[in-house]
Amino acid sequence: MVRLRFAPSPTGYLHVGGLRTALFSWLYAKQKNGKFILRLEDTDQNRLVKGSENALIRMLKWSGISIDEGPLDGGEFGPYRQSERLHIYNHYVQELINKNLAYRCFCSLERLDSLRNEQRLKGETPRYDKFCRKLSNEQSKKKVESGEMYVIRMKIPEKSEVLILDDIIRGRISIDTSNTEDQVILKSDGFPTYHLAVVVDDYLMKITHVVRGEEWLPSFPKHLLLYRYFGWDSPKFAHLPLILNPDRSKLSKRQMDVAVEDFRDQGYIPEALINFITLLGWSPIEKREIYSLKELVKEFSFKKINKSGAIFDREKLNWMNHKYIQNLDQKDLIKRLSSFSKSKSFKKLNPDFLKKVVQIQQSRLITLNNFFERLPYFVDDNPKTTNSKVLCLLKQKSSKIVLDEFYKQVLSLENLNKENLGIVVKNVQNKTSLNGTDLWLPLRYAITLEVKGPDLNLIVDLFGKEKCLRLVKRAIEI
Ligand code: GLU
Repeated sequence: MVRLRFAPSPTGYLHVGGLRTALFSWLYAKQKNGKFILRLEDTDQNRLVKGSENALIRMLKWSGISIDEGPLDGGEFGPYRQSERLHIYNHYVQELINKNLAYRCFCSLERLDSLRNEQRLKGETPRYDKFCRKLSNEQSKKKVESGEMYVIRMKIPEKSEVLILDDIIRGRISIDTSNTEDQVILKSDGFPTYHLAVVVDDYLMKITHVVRGEEWLPSFPKHLLLYRYFGWDSPKFAHLPLILNPDRSKLSKRQMDVAVEDFRDQGYIPEALINFITLLGWSPIEKREIYSLKELVKEFSFKKINKSGAIFDREKLNWMNHKYIQNLDQKDLIKRLSSFSKSKSFKKLNPDFLKKVVQIQQSRLITLNNFFERLPYFVDDNPKTTNSKVLCLLKQKSSKIVLDEFYKQVLSLENLNKENLGIVVKNVQNKTSLNGTDLWLPLRYAITLEVKGPDLNLIVDLFGKEKCLRLVKRAIEI
């Protein structure tokens, strides 16, 4: 059975890159009827951010990613927070020390700093000089007894070798260990570093495929050596290409929103975001763009992930979100708008009125937020506009002629609706001898307050005589 995990560090929000990693793992696990595991890598106590664990889980759930095993869901391979597994790491560190594959290092931070500076000055790559590797067992024990602080480092073989790594996406990669340093695997606070914890946990949790960002590729030799030291088979690895800004730089908060929360809060809907994110670096066989989650589970394949970086194209996301919103049935859209809305006045809206506004707006929405930006126009008795194109046209003399006549005609009517609008406009045309855009644009601009407005018939039907008269009067007075 395949078992894949998502292993974020709870140091902030869920990044869209993280969501993609989680998603690819989840899609594959579901396709193969396997398990998707959430493991929290909280071993760097200085970087923890309160509340981020809950936020990560909330955003995964919002995206539709279900968790089979995890800190809140339990499972037979727990605990699923690394901070609760310290005894396990200690056990394995001891095993490496006993096998003479790891050692205590007592070097002070000052020594390490000056070592690094010296190496930099000489133009060398900074790395640990194995100073404590030479200590005998006796010397090492004595230092411990005298209360000296230490970390544990793994030994990289003295004789460098070329490690062969088979990556599902990149194929065969060879990396020389001569550039790998004796990595710290247990810190002085008793917490493991990522490198030890990830290997131990992936093994103990029976992970079959590790999907992670390509920034972890340089650490790969250390991990492979640890698998070898413990005598374990390693899982399969898929290192995902970077996500890039449109200028091909690494996706960064400075240029773009990167938190999944940001997209949710702007009114992107999870299905669209998931669809979009899956296509970042993964190209399906068919050149289709819109895929439901179910279809993605069926179609997903690691083989179709590109090796090169994937550009985050916001325009495409907008297009996709628009498509998804357009295709929602009305009830569903209203439900989503209502859980998206923070405004109390929205909750108090008359359901029939709301349905009509939704009917008018649905085909024009790019995000759910657009609905609320436009809502005051529908709700206010006297909505205003600052749109200069609208104001400019309404100031023209011919516009005033049309609107004056329209006002007069409507005033004498019992009601104004989509059935009689056509007749009224015909009368205005006959009286003013204006037609085409000279006739329709002033009416459209005065009533919808937009250049490319929604269907005028539907708006007139919703507003009725009184509100339309108010709008037209205001336009005449501009
Ligand atoms: N905790 C690591 C991170 O947040 C996980 C890397 C991995 O998946 O192995 O990047």
